[in-house]
Amino acid sequence: MTTFAIATLGCKVNAYESQGYAQGLREYGWEEVAFKDCADVYLIHSCAVTNTAAAKSRQKIHQAQRQNPAACIAVAGCYAQMAHAQLAQDPHIDLIVGSDHKEQLPKLIYQTWQDRVHRVLVNDMRHVNVFEAIAVKQFSHQTRAYLKIQDGCNQFCSYCIIPYTRGTERSLAPDEVIKKAQMLTANGHVEIVLTGIHTGRYGREYGISLASLMQRLCEEVSGLQRLRISSIECNEVSDELIALMKREKRIARHLHIPIQSGDNTILKAMNRPYTLADYEQRIQAIRKELYPISISSDVICGFPAESEEQFAAGLVALRKMKLSFLHVFPYSRRDGTKAAIMPQQIPNEMKKQRTARLMTLSRELHQEYLKTFMHHEVEVLWEREENGYIVGHSSEYLEVCAPYDAGKLHRMETVCIIGIQDERLIGKAQEVRG
Ligand code: SF4
Repeated sequence: MTTFAIATLGCKVNAYESQGYAQGLREYGWEEVAFKDCADVYLIHSCAVTNTAAAKSRQKIHQAQRQNPAACIAVAGCYAQMAHAQLAQDPHIDLIVGSDHKEQLPKLIYQTWQDRVHRVLVNDMRHVNVFEAIAVKQFSHQTRAYLKIQDGCNQFCSYCIIPYTRGTERSLAPDEVIKKAQMLTANGHVEIVLTGIHTGRYGREYGISLASLMQRLCEEVSGLQRLRISSIECNEVSDELIALMKREKRIARHLHIPIQSGDNTILKAMNRPYTLADYEQRIQAIRKELYPISISSDVICGFPAESEEQFAAGLVALRKMKLSFLHVFPYSRRDGTKAAIMPQQIPNEMKKQRTARLMTLSRELHQEYLKTFMHHEVEVLWEREENGYIVGHSSEYLEVCAPYDAGKLHRMETVCIIGIQDERLIGKAQEVRG
């Protein structure tokens, strides 16, 4: 039997697409093995979001070459899009596919394995406006499923390569979203996470907002118990969305809203379309209606010219906002972006120190947020067994555990929080639903 292995780098959207590719290859009767094992065919689903991600993509290509010099090697995704000319020089790479041809990728890999004809399929993404709907029918052993509804970005943040690699914004047609969600719930997934590169801008070409789509999903997808948005920009959390969340309890009480910096000058240099005050006002409007919703964020530190004063003032501002946790990224230069050629790049050692300070803040904020749930009830969707405990996530995306009971797996339960252990809430069972 032909074996294949996939290495996925980068974002959740890549992870989603890789599930679709694996499913497509299994439909040829192929067997998936771990990437560290010897396989007949390797797919490196690459990322170019930073120079480091690009280097990791190259490492994976070399790893595949070492593990099986006779293997068929395919490289797809953002790094393949950016560096196709360079990759085409490598005689060990059989197939190079950029950021489109996603629907045909399993077939292209199958053909290349059969005929070993060298193929390079890379288009200029500025002219691609078709949403390629990769069908992922099932996520193995998972309660939660991901559904990609949007691709591309028109924002051009000065540090980000994505608009160049993934092209302009485009969405999956609303009826298609409904059909795919129905298929996922029919296959046993009770929670769906809507993902995309710029999910908040879903549906512009169809004249439908993300909130309207979510309302349709709640009304038309039977078996759907929880609906999440993977990430959304502050200026895209509309009043319509807040109102919908208020009346529709199945929409998760968690919004991941990237802020990226706590300083207005840096936000402007990043080409982010809001100020600190705009962000604060928006999260206040959300909390007013949806308290104690979890609002988490992404922060980049060490952006070019970020001074110690700006960084320290940003820390204070972020603390004041009482976010529930932060994903912290030291700024990483990406060739081809505006920020890569900005003066006053920050030394790595300073970026490391700022990352550590932000991570300490994130841990403190998270502990504070966890405490607000002590002796309160949360709704948990139980997902897995771990060392004699059943573990799941609350609507706020907090990890909760309780003594194991196999009958509760993949079901929703209301639990009272009786303790906190590290980053986790400890729940006491009350009533099982679903
Ligand atoms: S919004 Fe900014 S950071 Fe996000 S994908 Fe678009 S350009 Fe990149």
